[in-house]
Amino acid sequence: MTTLLIKNCFYIWPGCDDQPLCHHDILIQDNQIQRIETDIKEDVDRVIDASNHVVLPGLVNTHHHFYQTLTRNIPAVQNAKLFDWLVYLYEIWKHIDEEAVFYSSLLAMGELLKTGCTLSTDHHYLYPANINCDIMATQFKAADLLGIRFSPARGSMSLSKKDGGLPPDTVVQQEDVIYEDSRRVIEKFHDPSDFAMKKIILAPCSPFSVTENLMKQTAELARKHKVLLHTHLAETADENEFCVQMYGRRPLELMQDCDFLGNDVSFAHGIYFNDKELALLDKTATHIAHCPTSNMRLGSGICRVKEMLPTRINVGLAVDGSASNDSSDMLAEVRNALLLQRVKYGASAITLNDVLKMGTENGAKLLNFKKTGKIKKGYTADLALFNINKMEYAGALSDPAAALVFSGFNHGTDYTIVNGKIVVEKGRLTGFDEDKIRDKANALSRKIVEKV
Ligand SMILES: [Zn+2]
Repeated sequence: MTTLLIKNCFYIWPGCDDQPLCHHDILIQDNQIQRIETDIKEDVDRVIDASNHVVLPGLVNTHHHFYQTLTRNIPAVQNAKLFDWLVYLYEIWKHIDEEAVFYSSLLAMGELLKTGCTLSTDHHYLYPANINCDIMATQFKAADLLGIRFSPARGSMSLSKKDGGLPPDTVVQQEDVIYEDSRRVIEKFHDPSDFAMKKIILAPCSPFSVTENLMKQTAELARKHKVLLHTHLAETADENEFCVQMYGRRPLELMQDCDFLGNDVSFAHGIYFNDKELALLDKTATHIAHCPTSNMRLGSGICRVKEMLPTRINVGLAVDGSASNDSSDMLAEVRNALLLQRVKYGASAITLNDVLKMGTENGAKLLNFKKTGKIKKGYTADLALFNINKMEYAGALSDPAAALVFSGFNHGTDYTIVNGKIVVEKGRLTGFDEDKIRDKANALSRKIVEKV
């Protein structure tokens, strides 16, 4: 058994059901939180002094596209909206290879860990004809090295331009190949247990890049294997128009006909729902992965989060792909979620507790990790420790957890702990050389971008 004691925490935000704690210790045994008390006296393997730190449950990221870290803020589409942005970038993305998948995964997960995220998904839907590695195995290799809890979605695209879809032929796959590989990755990687480090989700990309048949088949397969479902939905008004033209139905109606609704389903974005559709999402307890930064960056719109929160619609937070954010800064996402709702609904629309809950507990619920997202005995030892004893937080300590969101200019943790293991120490990744990630990612990015 290994033991780790987080000593004398300046401030613990344990989750919104419990009162914050000052000057408490957290005892971790192996991968679980064992005790949260004052002045714990135990012989332990390691002690971390947290007297300057705000301790949060590890943040949870519910939507991403890691490979896009190599194509951030490309000048040609810095000011484009979703469909134009996608059509341009597909031509760059088709050049990704195994090395690009590996280093982009390290880069995205590294940024997430360094900004307090301990559990993330990734929606990889790009399978160019010329790539012949096991993409998911490559991503898990990167996740294992860095020590993040990882629940990737096996994405897919099958509806290319020639069939009325948006992506070019070079990046889509045959539906029987997608089905077979989806089954394979579940059998190879999925661990249904509460403390799993690996879970699989199935995720057709969007209504404008897969067929109705593939949506239906994927939903059936996921239910058969008891894994979650995910897709992009209702991100833009263009998508609504596309679906009405192509399928004669709005996006959510299409999903309903595909049996792609329920508490095992999450939709990324979920901006363009009308009242009737919100009622259907409520009735079916469907989840939303809210991506405020991406929605602002692409000018997509504002998700009706405030109206969703009192219902059974569970809203988690997500940074989205790095070509539309363009960072994997999870604490910034919490801040932007708070600010963006206030633009639409006013200053009292949403509280700090609401957004922290969305970034922790709600995200864990969306990804079906039942013992993650709170600092509580018996929960996974997934923690983020932010040093609050800095100039940029001075004057903001009357509410230390809020200071992290309202104040400051650097979202990096001092320590990030996942499954009881220190994966960020003194602000640096412990599992891989950060400078190597930077240099390789820059070189790979140059290579891919120059091909256009
Ligand atoms: Zn996305």
